[in-house]
Amino acid sequence: MQRTVSLVLEKNKDLYALIILYNRIANVHIQYCLENQTLSKNDLHHLLYKEIRKKYPKFPSALIQCARDHAVEMLKGNKMNVQTKKRLDSSIRFDRRTMKVFLESGTLQLTTHVGRNKYPVKVPVHFQKYFSWEVKSLNLGINKKHCLVKVVVEGKVPEQSRCSEVLGIDLGLRNFAALSDGQIIPSKEINRVKRKYAHLRKELQSKGTRAAKQKLQALAGRERRFMSGWNHNLTKYLASLPYGAFAVEDLKGIRSGRKGKVFNRRRSNWAYAQFRSYLQYKAEEQGKFVLLIDPKYTSQQCKNCLYIAKENRKGKIFHCQKCNYISDADTNASKNISRRGSKIFFEQAVVNQPYISNYEALLRLEKIHISAA
Ligand SMILES: [Zn+2]
Repeated sequence: MQRTVSLVLEKNKDLYALIILYNRIANVHIQYCLENQTLSKNDLHHLLYKEIRKKYPKFPSALIQCARDHAVEMLKGNKMNVQTKKRLDSSIRFDRRTMKVFLESGTLQLTTHVGRNKYPVKVPVHFQKYFSWEVKSLNLGINKKHCLVKVVVEGKVPEQSRCSEVLGIDLGLRNFAALSDGQIIPSKEINRVKRKYAHLRKELQSKGTRAAKQKLQALAGRERRFMSGWNHNLTKYLASLPYGAFAVEDLKGIRSGRKGKVFNRRRSNWAYAQFRSYLQYKAEEQGKFVLLIDPKYTSQQCKNCLYIAKENRKGKIFHCQKCNYISDADTNASKNISRRGSKIFFEQAVVNQPYISNYEALLRLEKIHISAA
């Protein structure tokens, strides 16, 4: 299991110069690859290495190799796109020969064109758990104010959880989430904060001054951080519940426009995408799984008798036209999600990746009859 530790370094002239040099060297490689239609690291080394050493004698040779590999990967990733060019201020990569990271003492040791130097860095408390993990690679970037460091660390995959129950989670607008154990996570608080920011935004936009624009930006940052904090807390709570897997609707596979306005709004909402990715992250740390299930008819199907009809759902209320089962509409949907998730979970006794269900197979399994209406 790999995790990324993001750190901030004070801006440093030498590091800035190093980034530019590295990217120039990467671009020399990119140009050569494109002109000669080759991605052979060996060819590149033989033809360019000496020339580059001559031109940049102080640039560390191990970093030339990093830049070369970086260039080759970029071209592999975009299928030799002729427009490829690395931006001179884009982030650069160090490998184990060119860096050492001491998370516990907050020190980075980097090989640069001005020698092997140590840089102090502040490591936030929540990264403490990675102190014993193995450092795999390091990325160094810059923005207007700081140097940004991303350290990739690797630790053991946690033992698989022994729980076999699956919690269904229905994400929605009225309720942020409804859980198949009957719990409702209301979105009242989110809506209140969103309204507050929308109001402030409107006021600032009408002013249109430069100061107002700056404030608008800060506002956007605050709103983002609020949502991120909310998602962190909620997913942390969910992951700690005694379930072996969490089932959520897979909204990616659905073609747009198929489920109407509300559904599309849900799908495009980044807060839900963030929720899923945080949940995945936190579940994985506990040896649990996130299952993505087909969202078709989850809100129209009766969790009791599996009968599907549009008329079953009337706003907040679910009322089965066949067996008379009555429930909160979102809770009913979350129970369908849980049941579909359980099927996937048991079919795939050993799952190590989120699994996307096949709707046709599901129909066969449940012997569902869709109402003609
Ligand atoms: Zn029913």
